Amino acid sequence: LQAQLLQAQKMESVGRLAGGVAHDFNNMLSVILGHSELALDDLAPDSPVHNDLLQIRQAAHRSADLIRQLLAFARKQTAIPKILDLNKTISGMLKMLHRLIGEDIQLRWLPEEGLWPVMMDPGQIDQILANLCVNARDAIDNTGEISIRTKKGLFDINHIPPEKGFIPGEYVVLSVHDTGSGMEPEILSHLFEPFFTTKAPGKGTGLGLATIYGIVKQNGGYIDVRSRPSEGTSFSVYLPRYEGLPEESHPEESRVPPGSP
Ligand code: ADP
Repeated sequence: LQAQLLQAQKMESVGRLAGGVAHDFNNMLSVILGHSELALDDLAPDSPVHNDLLQIRQAAHRSADLIRQLLAFARKQTAIPKILDLNKTISGMLKMLHRLIGEDIQLRWLPEEGLWPVMMDPGQIDQILANLCVNARDAIDNTGEISIRTKKGLFDINHIPPEKGFIPGEYVVLSVHDTGSGMEPEILSHLFEPFFTTKAPGKGTGLGLATIYGIVKQNGGYIDVRSRPSEGTSFSVYLPRYEGLPEESHPEESRVPPGSP
């Protein structure tokens, strides 16, 4: 529990710091990007500084990507949860995921029929899957396989060790499995820390799993990781079953946004 608390505090302060810096930095970056675009437009392609400007623009684009990730990591409060059938939500994302990991890599989709609904922002599902699939792609190095699976069930402490603060109950599970490099215990112990990465500079930010951790916590869920060096890794995201009313039958007044007359 102590470790959980420490992790939560660390996430919160890094999130606040990152959000503040990212916001200001983003404004400055827009100036760099805007002016390098303008300068490139005005410049003859054979100018000696043409290549320098291209490099500036490329670096600014890379920085913008990093900032986007930082903001996604810091911005937890803007989620707009909806009642979702995860199978439908994920089916709609498969094309994008395939493009993300590369069309040549085998991506299997194994949904369990008759899944229970969950209450979540579909954009958060997108973030979870995109981050897990990119990590899986990097781990398999083109020669393995990635599978995405859904299932539902009543899970107790036989499934997840109680020291993770797991509350037994009914969950919908979304898992991503890869047959890649797997992880040594030393790496596993740092997995969800913000900025922990083993990837080359410019390739990894160490924010992917920290972001997922924040999202899953926010939604009352859990993440279980099983990994063996040189055999592969499975990330299972447990999301609580939504047991409220279907969206259509909500009373009209509950849809009035807060602050409306
Ligand atoms: P990043 O991908 O930017 O490094 P993440 O937080 O997503 O940041 O991941 C942190 C680290 O966890 C990675 O650098 C990698 O060492 C390890 N990792 C994550 N997913 C996997 C996986 N599926 N297989 C092997 N290692 C992984």
